[in-house]
Amino acid sequence: MLEFDYDLFVIGAGSGGVRAARIAASHGARVAIAEEYRIGGTCVIRGCVPKKLLVYASRFTDEFEDAEGFGWSLEGARFDWQSLIAAKDNEIARLEAVYGATLAKFNVELFAERATVAAPHGVKLTQSGRTVSAKAILIATGGRPNLDENLPGIEHVITSNEAFHLKEMPRRVVIAGGGYIAVEFASIFKGLGADVTLIYRRDKILRGFDEDLRNALTTAMTSRGIHIIAGHIFTRIEKTQTGLAGHITGGEVVEADQIMFAIGRSPNTAGLGLEGVGVKLSGNGAVAVEGTWQTSVPSIYAVGDVTDRVNLTPVAIREGHAFADTVFGNKAWTVDYKAIPTAVFATPEIGTVGFSEHEARAQYGDIDIYKASFRPMKAILAGRDERMLMKLVVERASDRVVGVHILGPDAAEIVQMAAVAIRMGAKKSDFDQTMALHPSAAEELVTLREKWIAPGEAAG
Ligand code: FAD
Ligand code: NDP
Repeated sequence: MLEFDYDLFVIGAGSGGVRAARIAASHGARVAIAEEYRIGGTCVIRGCVPKKLLVYASRFTDEFEDAEGFGWSLEGARFDWQSLIAAKDNEIARLEAVYGATLAKFNVELFAERATVAAPHGVKLTQSGRTVSAKAILIATGGRPNLDENLPGIEHVITSNEAFHLKEMPRRVVIAGGGYIAVEFASIFKGLGADVTLIYRRDKILRGFDEDLRNALTTAMTSRGIHIIAGHIFTRIEKTQTGLAGHITGGEVVEADQIMFAIGRSPNTAGLGLEGVGVKLSGNGAVAVEGTWQTSVPSIYAVGDVTDRVNLTPVAIREGHAFADTVFGNKAWTVDYKAIPTAVFATPEIGTVGFSEHEARAQYGDIDIYKASFRPMKAILAGRDERMLMKLVVERASDRVVGVHILGPDAAEIVQMAAVAIRMGAKKSDFDQTMALHPSAAEELVTLREKWIAPGEAAG
């Protein structure tokens, strides 16, 4: 008789869990996976994918406006929220089915219910009440949106989870937060025609990003009509006859049809039984892991957002893959967390990889900055004033490009490729020797020749 029911039991069928289950099964492991909501997890069901679909929808406004400058006349364009949400839901259902089919193809047994950890090798299935055993357990339960539970009226707000399923398009939206989700949804709702206000607790949105990106995006969002109230938080939220009233510090009251909180996410470990079996958690409930994603209990591993390190889909996927290859495929490898490219799908969008100017200065001391701010070619006939920003951060001693920061159309697409160069240790001279592709916006990256001299600073 086999010692365990399964070689691997994965809790959570999201980005990291599905990849780990599939790869472990491909190495011959007997694998089961439990999912309490929908297969695909946050990214597919209520994160990256539906978000990007809404981003596309929101950008047609610009296209329609710009088209006139190119000879088009477009009368009577109308937007219908219900049609968008229905189309988005169809696509998400299709993707969910693809994920389910992949698991089935690899003979991964699916439990469509919540699971908790009952013992170092034991998993309890909540609905059926069954307990099964596994040689290894992988925690891949992701995260959930934070809410300020003590705020009076918090029951009236939505998070990104609900934003994807609103029955009607809100005309007035107030968003709390200044990170990825707040900024992306502010642009989505603005593009779709809502009045949008962003309430951010500190002085400037997107803390941690390069200062030039933060400043340029703040300018662009503001000139697109998004009202950014910095340095404030909500003190109370009330239902009114016309919607919601959000009271903020300083006494101002903002009125809205929907108030959305996007103030960060926390690891999904509450009630999972981890502490009971001795798995160490950090202060915010994240599962603490060592090199091979092993927790303080040797048979229990964790990948993805539940470890709260780099909370991005490609990172969760790669961790799940490396874990499965290492533990079940006799092919040990690890994830390189350096120079992870990332995008903020605001409009205009941000693409960024490597060190910000501030970080590079702290890391290397002497650095050189090259930057360009210009109106992209399409903007001229369109009559659009918005500027594109491109910035290179170079370590002076080695001439290596250690940061690429872009704000503007297709920034995410450009930065994905720039990330290859950064990883390979490309020097500024390599950028310079690369032939420009003309006419493009990205050619600016290989034609930047003048060092940026900050006002009052001597040339280095
Ligand atoms: P998840 O994908 O969250 O999967 C965890 C799964 O576990 C969920 O399906 C959950 O239902 C399930 N689960 C939890 N507890 C249990 C339990 N006890 N039993 C059974 N099942 C359980 N990242 C990007 O890289 N690019 C983006 O553009 C991007 N956009 C985003 C937009 C939004 C609005 C959000 C919220 C996130 C976005 N992210 C984006 C982040 C990305 O979604 C996550 O980093 C990624 O999904 C993490 O994968 P994971 O496998 O760790 O967890
Ligand atoms: P972020 O961590 O990006 O931003 C959270 C924001 O909320 C920050 O501005 C933070 O302010 C603010 N905040 C935190 N606590 C409070 C509070 N108590 N009151 C008021 N404001 C508060 O989280 P998000 O929720 O936007 O997104 C979660 C994660 O999901 C991201 O960090 C990212 O990893 C991932 N994601 C990735 C996307 C992408 O790749 N395009 C898109 C969406 C999400 P402060 O700066 O002062 O701390």
